[in-house]
Amino acid sequence: MTRGRLVIISGPSGAGKSTVVRELINRSDLPLKLSVSATTRPARAGEIDGVHYHFLNQSQFNQLREDGEFLECKEVFGLGYWYGTLRNKVATGLEEGSWVILEIDVQGAIAVLDQGGLDPITFFVHTGGLDSLESRLRGRKTEDEAVISRRLTTAEEEIQLMHRYQYEIINDEVDRAVEEIDQRLSRHRENREH
Ligand code: ADP
Ligand code: 5GP
Repeated sequence: MTRGRLVIISGPSGAGKSTVVRELINRSDLPLKLSVSATTRPARAGEIDGVHYHFLNQSQFNQLREDGEFLECKEVFGLGYWYGTLRNKVATGLEEGSWVILEIDVQGAIAVLDQGGLDPITFFVHTGGLDSLESRLRGRKTEDEAVISRRLTTAEEEIQLMHRYQYEIINDEVDRAVEEIDQRLSRHRENREH
């Protein structure tokens, strides 16, 4: 069995990462698999434990961290909520031949890159402007004003680190953005086969 590839998708909150990743997995011919992260953030309405995230309390999260179970983990947005990628799930997925997608923040992506050896294919998804980001975040109606404001400040910091990624994807239209990512990934597979 050919080992899979690690794929990282980052970008500001509200840029449309979850939407794009969902569609990408539905449409692509590649054996894509989304890595389900652990988080201490409370579940939003409609989010299912084990599907969208593994929802943990802080002490459960700390225990996993102490046990070295995270490939990377970060407090995202500085609001006290932690997010982490489960090392074993990623390793098993890659061994099974899946192309494992990490939808993680920029600090987490850099931590993975700095570990070396994992050779991820990296995408930075954004809207191309902070105004459209703000309106998408507001339109989603899942965060209050303080949280939206914090996420927008973080977005400005994240955009400064876009150069660490191989591909910049403007999510102007979901279909087009999905197609672009799928083509880039397919090209990586073709290059590997030849
Ligand atoms: P993220 O995962 O990056 O935080 P979401 O996928 O939750 O972002 O998208 C944020 C909001 O923007 C959602 O309400 C989603 O339906 C909407 N959205 C996503 N992509 C687009 C797009 N290309 N054009 C307009 N709205 C979009
Ligand atoms: P949300 O709270 O909107 O689901 O996600 C907030 C942010 O956390 C997003 O930027 C998302 O990419 C990031 N995130 C989700 N899971 C992880 C993870 O396991 N590690 C890191 N570093 N960031 C994550």
